[in-house]
Amino acid sequence: MDARETDPLEVLVGVEPPRTTARWRRALAEAVRDPDLLCDLVGLGPEFRERARRAARLFPLVVPRGYLARIKPGNPADPLLRQVLPLSAEAVARPGFSVDPLVEEEARSQPGLLRKYRGRALLVTTGVCAINCRFCFRRHFPYEEVPRGIEAWEPALASLAADPTIEEVILSGGDPLSLTDEWLGRLAERIGLIEHVKRLRVHTRLPIVLPERVTDELLGWLASGRFQPIVVVHANHAREVDDAVARGLARLAEAGVLLLNQSVLLAGVNDDIDVLESLARRLIECRVLPYYLHQLDAVAGAAHFEVPEERGRALARELRDRLPGYMVPRYVREVPGAAAKTILY
Ligand SMILES: *Cc1c(COP(=O)(O)O)cnc(C)c1O
Ligand code: SF4
Repeated sequence: MDARETDPLEVLVGVEPPRTTARWRRALAEAVRDPDLLCDLVGLGPEFRERARRAARLFPLVVPRGYLARIKPGNPADPLLRQVLPLSAEAVARPGFSVDPLVEEEARSQPGLLRKYRGRALLVTTGVCAINCRFCFRRHFPYEEVPRGIEAWEPALASLAADPTIEEVILSGGDPLSLTDEWLGRLAERIGLIEHVKRLRVHTRLPIVLPERVTDELLGWLASGRFQPIVVVHANHAREVDDAVARGLARLAEAGVLLLNQSVLLAGVNDDIDVLESLARRLIECRVLPYYLHQLDAVAGAAHFEVPEERGRALARELRDRLPGYMVPRYVREVPGAAAKTILY
């Protein structure tokens, strides 16, 4: 996908972006997208290249250089590398794994709007992410339908305005923070005109994979408006949360943002009690509450990441025995048509 097409950066034409904005946009532009280069940078031999190239045709490779720097070279099983390295296993079909496992087709009432749960509405703001996680449940999402300009958002905004039960709007994607703050600020302003919306929640992996993204401009629209701001980040392993990430999270916390984390339970990444425990401790150190531990959605191409539910329950139970209650995420799965995420433990 041409990132420029889905990115309303046009609004910035002729305007000099603030320096902090220029920095994260450059880091995003310089993200590694070439499988050969990835293999070079993480010290993987030629046997990985062809496979990676083939799998990257199914779902493109994207990974920021700063994230790669946290990977220990020469180990294909590194838990961070495993989340981004395209593998031939992705081409293997498995019964029960489909392109739309959550049957989201039905929940799309207006372009860009997903309404599944009471009181909350989710806006799919972009298909672009700063990292392409190989297990992503949205790897087949029809992002062509995502509205671009503010006019294209009118039907979704009108539908939110017409429903006084909506108290919370969730900006999701893709990754909403791959859009500019100027654009997001405009969208937030429009949502702010809807009186019954009290909370603005952002689902994003950017503060974890590209900590430069936490800028003054971001805090400006997110934390200084009339909303209660909530940011749900996505980290799966304590090593993802390095010192630069911790500094960004601290800035968000200091600006009054409620910070939560969601993880996906992933074979070979975090299906281990000590890994889950150190992730929880690291998050709390950064003032982030572990919120959800998701059972993998059965998306085609990700079957090799699946951890059986029974094993997931045993891990969640043991985590509960080891840690204070507030450090233990709820182990959940998404069941199409259910009124909420289904709690597995
Ligand atoms: C997961 C999800 C939410 C948020 O659910 P919470 O349990 O409130 O975190 C909202 N809308 C959609 C469509 C979702 O998939
Ligand atoms: S950042 Fe989130 S939406 Fe983007 S690829 Fe990763 S899991 Fe999917």
